[in-house]
Amino acid sequence: MTDIRDRQADIIVVGGGLVGSAIAYGLTRHAPRVMLLDEGDRAFRATRGNFGLVWVQSKGDGAPHYTHWTRNSQERWTDFAAELKARTGVDTHHENDGGLTLCLSEAEFLDRRALMERHRRDAGNRGFEYKMLRLPELRELVPEAGDSVYGASFTPYDGCANPLFTLRAVHEGFDQLGGIYRPDHAVVAIEHKDGIFRLETRHGTYEAPRVVIAAGNMTPGLARQVGLEIPLNPQRGEILVTERIAPFMRLPTQNMRQTVEGSIIMGDSKEDVGFDTATDTGVISDIAARAVTAFPILRDVPVVRAWAALRVLSPDGLPIYAESQTCPGAFATICHSGVTLAAAHANELGGWLMGADRPEAIAKLGPERFHVS
Ligand SMILES: Cc1cc2nc3c(=O)[nH]c(=O)nc-3n(C[C@H](O)[C@H](O)[C@H](O)COP(=O)(O)OP(=O)(O)OC[C@H]3O[C@@H](n4cnc5c(N)ncnc54)[C@H](O)[C@@H]3O)c2cc1C
Repeated sequence: MTDIRDRQADIIVVGGGLVGSAIAYGLTRHAPRVMLLDEGDRAFRATRGNFGLVWVQSKGDGAPHYTHWTRNSQERWTDFAAELKARTGVDTHHENDGGLTLCLSEAEFLDRRALMERHRRDAGNRGFEYKMLRLPELRELVPEAGDSVYGASFTPYDGCANPLFTLRAVHEGFDQLGGIYRPDHAVVAIEHKDGIFRLETRHGTYEAPRVVIAAGNMTPGLARQVGLEIPLNPQRGEILVTERIAPFMRLPTQNMRQTVEGSIIMGDSKEDVGFDTATDTGVISDIAARAVTAFPILRDVPVVRAWAALRVLSPDGLPIYAESQTCPGAFATICHSGVTLAAAHANELGGWLMGADRPEAIAKLGPERFHVS
């Protein structure tokens, strides 16, 4: 028979993707009993289909608070990766040597430079370093850049990590810190009564005075049950992976990077197709063609896999961190850049979720900006 304590926690996080797991991992520093209820293989899981950038350049144009939040996380990532490695032995393959966005024409280059200047202006005292590189300078970093590449922007803040190893490390770390993980536990209903949330799953009901809904694209339906409206538009992205080849990409670009093992990962399609996760041969061909334009060395490298996954996207593309007014103790969050923001989620949200003031850094990232509560 299950002990009643096995079903109770100080706080329950719903959703074991990178967002929910990173939050749950961080919560172990703030609460003795943290539980993570996760669905299973049939769920939409952006974390298992993403590109693995820890990326700053181009985040938060017109929304400097988001750039700041992204940089908070990026600045914490090196320590976060080291902490996970020391605790679990899992190497996230985090790299933080900077990143490039390639420009294929002078117009793209000028637009990019204007964007970098806006970032610099918005960064104020914090500063924002970047360089615009024309092809000859770019080739000093990546000699294989093709003749059709006009140039690139470079910032030192960008990098990447293996998202699957990161997820594994966070889960193992959570376990070691005493977190309680329940896979195959899709939450189907949430009731709030007498200050306690009761979360119904097919394995029974779980209880806690606090709940965080971080179920990716499934967040809105659950959040509504605790009085939160989370506007969300899934967006499909397709990714290709090549055979392993000798290292040639010293730095990741916004839509192409070489893994530690040697594969090239490429793709950044943005498709508005609802919840359809099928791949599209037209999109795949375009991704491959652009990759070969950027790096002709890839022309004869076989693609071994392609997949599609759904981004968890708010209407303005920025994260949402919400606290319920009608059901105190209930929170919901969605975000597109769950890899990039993992270090901030693990380090900066736990106090708030356990009752402290909301961090100033996320004050403008609530759902109120969409005129919903
Ligand atoms: C193609 C693509 C490329 C991307 N590239 C990058 C990148 O380079 N860098 C970056 O930072 N981000 C990137 N992202 C975004 C990143 O993947 C997401 O922000 C992140 O994975 C979202 O994590 P999540 O935990 O919110 O959602 P998910 O990973 O979708 O996880 C949701 C979890 O909730 C669980 N769940 C769902 N319903 C329930 C329920 N009812 N009860 C219990 N559990 C439930 C599921 O089982 C799942 O484990 C990319 C995304 C895509 C699609």
